[in-house]
Amino acid sequence: MGKVFDVQAARNDFPALTQRDAKGQPIVYLDNAATTQKPQKVLDALMDFYTRYNANVHRGYYEWGQRATEAYENTRKRLANLIGAADPQEIIFTRGATEACNALAEIIGQRYFQPDDEIILSELEHHANQIPWQMQQTKRGVRVKGWHVKEDGELDLSQLDSLLTAKTKLLTVTHVSNVIGTVPPLREIIRRAHANGTLVVIDAAQALAHLPINVQTLDCDFLVGSGHKMYGPMGSGFFYGKRALLETLPPYHGGGTMMETVTIDSFTPAAIPARFEAGTPPVADIIGLGAAIDYLQQFSWKSLMAHEDQVIAYAEKTLSQFPRVHVVGHPPQRTAVLSFVIDGIHPHDVASLVSDHHIALRAGYHCCQPLMHRLQYPGGVVRASFGLYNTCEEVDRLAQALEKVFTVFPL
Ligand code: PMP
Repeated sequence: MGKVFDVQAARNDFPALTQRDAKGQPIVYLDNAATTQKPQKVLDALMDFYTRYNANVHRGYYEWGQRATEAYENTRKRLANLIGAADPQEIIFTRGATEACNALAEIIGQRYFQPDDEIILSELEHHANQIPWQMQQTKRGVRVKGWHVKEDGELDLSQLDSLLTAKTKLLTVTHVSNVIGTVPPLREIIRRAHANGTLVVIDAAQALAHLPINVQTLDCDFLVGSGHKMYGPMGSGFFYGKRALLETLPPYHGGGTMMETVTIDSFTPAAIPARFEAGTPPVADIIGLGAAIDYLQQFSWKSLMAHEDQVIAYAEKTLSQFPRVHVVGHPPQRTAVLSFVIDGIHPHDVASLVSDHHIALRAGYHCCQPLMHRLQYPGGVVRASFGLYNTCEEVDRLAQALEKVFTVFPL
């Protein structure tokens, strides 16, 4: 079990955060939903791989090849442990959550989708978890049905039972919304979907760094994650699938590793997980992801979540004190993300003006155009997203910067 969370000590673990602006102030990095900073341990793991045992995995009989394979496979074990998977072989590495969603849509689609089948997509989904399923419409004649979000940013559970029909093959929903921070009641959603014989894919890209996940307790069929949003390297990601299901699914990329035998006109696919990991994987990045998981797991979820909850609650309270600021959505549980709009100022101008004060925010649609249309933010929203190293003092700096922005754009 981990030690008590000490935010100042944690900040020192991240070299990027030790930089100062011309006035000697640290950068306020509030774009963690886009990507998190990387702790020294992760940077060391990358450097160590490239300087001491850079070799391809699963092929080399020499020492470096064996070390690389061992380290790569160790990440699989750590990930399985992090998400409570029964077996590390249920973890398939990808280059990110986007690749994971595309892979799942393709392999589930090939095996399970028939013309006129239905897929339920929540309106909270990131484009990465919308478009691959939409593409299945043209490929396999399935139909995507949207699950609406209420004004407060919650999914309308009362709609779910009428959305689920005998034709619903799959439902997909995010664990944490990358715009509102909403955490849908996944267990209940999965229970109802399964009662209808519907498979469930969870997009945990925004959840893994912020809350504990247990795929067996959730009972989800598949789950996707993104390494670079959990303090790991860009180019690392994964999907989880229940073993019994993964074993029924065909490969989606052909190449080395994913085959058992090959003749000039045919091949037989390898067992899982190799079946879905064709070619050279991002070895260093996956090893770096293992270091990121170690880093995260040194803290107790309880202390980490208490800290992040405190900062986000403080941010919501602070920003709500400005009459011109409107926080987007009011879900009962908000994790890590707070979006807002300001009367009379375009979101892009807000993000650009606070950037003059060395504060990193993001503005726009956040790859969630259906959600923006539903909530009627045609110009998008400004998003502050938090990591374990953010503090209430940083929220104060954001508030001070916003006060200056108001003087540039008086109402
Ligand atoms: N899903 C969600 C909820 C996301 O926020 C993102 C990234 N913004 C993705 C999927 C895509 O992740 P990746 O960058 O790893 O492809």
